[in-house]
Amino acid sequence: MAAIAGEQSRGYSERERALDVRETSNLGRADIHIHTRHGDGMATVPELLEYVEQFNDLDVIAVTEHDTLRAADEAREIHARRNHRFDLICGMEVTTLDGHLLALFIDEPVASFRRMEETLAAIHAQGGLAIVPHPLSWLTRSVGVRVFERIAAVGNDGVHFDGIEEYNLSPAGRVTSAKARQLNRDRLGLAALGSSDAHFLQSIGSAYTLFDGTSAADLRRAIEEKRTSGAEGRAPRLSELGYRNVALQQWRGMMATPRSMGWAPTIRSFIVSHARQKPTPAPPRPEGEQR
Ligand SMILES: [Zn+2]
Ligand SMILES: [Zn+2]
Repeated sequence: MAAIAGEQSRGYSERERALDVRETSNLGRADIHIHTRHGDGMATVPELLEYVEQFNDLDVIAVTEHDTLRAADEAREIHARRNHRFDLICGMEVTTLDGHLLALFIDEPVASFRRMEETLAAIHAQGGLAIVPHPLSWLTRSVGVRVFERIAAVGNDGVHFDGIEEYNLSPAGRVTSAKARQLNRDRLGLAALGSSDAHFLQSIGSAYTLFDGTSAADLRRAIEEKRTSGAEGRAPRLSELGYRNVALQQWRGMMATPRSMGWAPTIRSFIVSHARQKPTPAPPRPEGEQR
């Protein structure tokens, strides 16, 4: 944990603290984690864009489907033709062997079922940003403390996280949001974001990221300078979504990765991920090295 503990000074900054309490109405709002019917979400891409245009005050959204860039590509095509009042970021939610990872600002799909180090390097090589979704959650494949420690110890430019969801209003994210916030503020010091992880239209914007500016470029700069903060709105109740729809979405969720990646690679990835949970022995300390 030394590698992370040493980062303490980069924890929750005065600037971020100020963002939390100051009047937020003049800050931009972004929801950078949204699913569609290309994966386990319930809405098509056109429905999603139309909904945000009509019913949200979000300035920036990212379409981030599981293990495919097709949803983001479709959104980009429609967004380019229409005069939407909000900005769009292309992204995807990559299943790595060490948990889910959001890749934002990408043009090419990122390979799934790779080690976190390899995935981070691939995202940064094409100029993308890497955000940890639903950190620490045990309800879905998520980055845990050991992986945070491992990446913090790498000390390589391309192998780092750019941000973390301090708020994620999906069922998987909600169970560990408070713990993740604490971890980031005490030890990680990553840019703090909030996302809905929406699988239903009504959930979009239920958690969001506040930033200075209104465009995707402003948001990117704010993340890089760690001047963002996450915030939580209201998540729709199950009764509002419809119990049948919720059950249907759960089923789609269980099928999402096997459907897009094939059953065999999905099952193999579970086995490899599980094997990787076992602690690896520390390398021998070079002779004469001081503690
Ligand atoms: Zn996820
Ligand atoms: Zn997600």
